[in-house]
Parts: sequence; structure tokens; C-alpha cells
Amino acid sequence: MAKHPISHLLVEPGSDLSLAHRDTDETFGWEKDWALEELERVKQRLDVLQARLYAEEQRSVLLVLQAMDAAGKDGTIRSILSGLNPAGVHVASFKVPGGLEVQHDYLWRVHQQVPAKGHIGVFNRSHYEDVLVVRVKGFAPKPVWSKRYEHIREFEQLLADEGTRIVKCFLHVGRDEQRERLQERVDDPEKRWKFRMGDLEDRAMWPDFMEAYEDAIRKTSTKYAPWYVVPADHNWSRNLAVAMILLDVLEDMDPQLPPPEDGIDGVVVE
Ligand code: ADP
Repeated sequence: MAKHPISHLLVEPGSDLSLAHRDTDETFGWEKDWALEELERVKQRLDVLQARLYAEEQRSVLLVLQAMDAAGKDGTIRSILSGLNPAGVHVASFKVPGGLEVQHDYLWRVHQQVPAKGHIGVFNRSHYEDVLVVRVKGFAPKPVWSKRYEHIREFEQLLADEGTRIVKCFLHVGRDEQRERLQERVDDPEKRWKFRMGDLEDRAMWPDFMEAYEDAIRKTSTKYAPWYVVPADHNWSRNLAVAMILLDVLEDMDPQLPPPEDGIDGVVVE
């Protein structure tokens, strides 16, 4: 069998990870026109499998997306989920916690957003912020955040044991590409609303973020909740790569339609 063109994006559990050695502009030898058409084919297949997952109502899928600003989390979600049945998709975006959220442990708000049986859930940022931005910006001291990798592994194990297939993608954008995209947000009136001054602060701490990402990904890429590092400098190849990763998960789950009621054979609807 031919090797899957994106299988090297997986971070093998227990392996080392150097983000500096992972390309951000890889396009897997794909032509853009072909990739756009292939994405449509992948989405048609996703649509069929989503319908079966929904009908089966036994298991769920959770796609976690993490990235530096402007790597394209929103664009990826729009691209790969448009065309699916919205009734079976749940997208949760995690922002700076406030109100009741800060009065609870960091996983409290996250657990409430995990997909119900039959659904595909997507996390636009996630519980990983609690070992990324929280660590880099010192929002919690090391003795607090350093325990969280284990909590997260256990939490994801719980979800997996209870029927959720988890797959996690780090959209890996290059620092130069990010500069261009942030500048575009400043310059383009249609995009300016997305720009926050805090984005520049995070950008200035790039090496610290990369270190925190490496650590988080290394410590939490498991058999039951693997991480993929997806090159994100080109939107079209990034979208197809994530769609393929999601499709692989659903193909492997092979959701089954529930058996029809007895006696349906030969029924004629008057
Ligand atoms: P996005 O960048 O995801 O499109 P925003 O511009 O609203 O959306 O940014 C959300 C911000 O919330 C990010 O800077 C992110 O780091 C921050 N955030 C998310 N979760 C947490 C958390 N648990 N603690 C602190 N900050 C968080």
C-alpha cells in the first residue's frame, strides 16, 4: 500500500519533537488545483461518514486545533466543515476564561463542550491553552501548570474510554508568514477586527511559545489522542491535510447505520 502523503505529520507517542525541523511551507507535492478538487472529494466522503456517525449515536469525534495567531484555525474549520450537516457538528472556541470559568478548575469549561455521541466536535483553541499561554505568560506558576500534562492525558483517556475519538492538529505557521498575515489584518479593513494588540506581544514571545508547544505536544501525543503537526503556510494544502486526517479517523471508526426495524422489507408507502 502506498504510504499516506501526510503520515509523517503524526507525532509518534514518546518521540522527540523539534518544531524548527518541521517545515511550515510543505505542500506534499500537491498541485493547488488538484488539492482543491481533492478537498471536495474528501468532504463528500466526510459527509457520508458523518451521517453514519450521527445515526449510530454511539461514539463521537473531537478535533482539537491549536496554533499561533493567524495560522488559520478559523479558515480550516470553515473549509473542512462547510458541507457537513450542521446538526451533527459542534464548534467550541476557547477565549480568555472569565466569570464562572475562572471559579473552577481549567478543565471544567472544556468538559462541557466535548461532543455528544454521534457528533463531530471541534475545539478552536482548547485546554492546551492552560499549558501554553498560561505557561509562557506566567498566568500560573510552574508547580501548577506542570501538573497539567498528566491531567490532560488522563482527561483525554477518559474521553477515549467513553467513546470519543480524539485527534489534535497543531497548525504550524512560519514566523515570516505570520508577519505577513498580521500585517494584512492591520491593512485590510475587512480583516482589521481580527487584530488585537496582544497578538504582537505573543509574536514577540515566539521562541517561548514554540518551546511550550514542543513540550505540550511531546507529553500528550498518545495512541488514543495523537498530535499532528500540520504545515500551515499554504491554506489550500493545510485544509486538505487536516481534512484527510479527519477522514482517516472516521474511516477507521467505520460508523454503522443502526439496523432497520423488523418487517420493513417490502413495505409500500401509500
Ligand atoms: P483567536 O485568536 O482564537 O481567533 P481571540 O483573538 O479572541 O481568538 O483570542 C483568544 C485568546 O484567548 C488567545 O490569546 C488565547 O491565548 C486566549 N486564551 C484562551 N484560553 C486561555 C486560557 N485558558 N488562559 C488564558 N488565555 C487564554
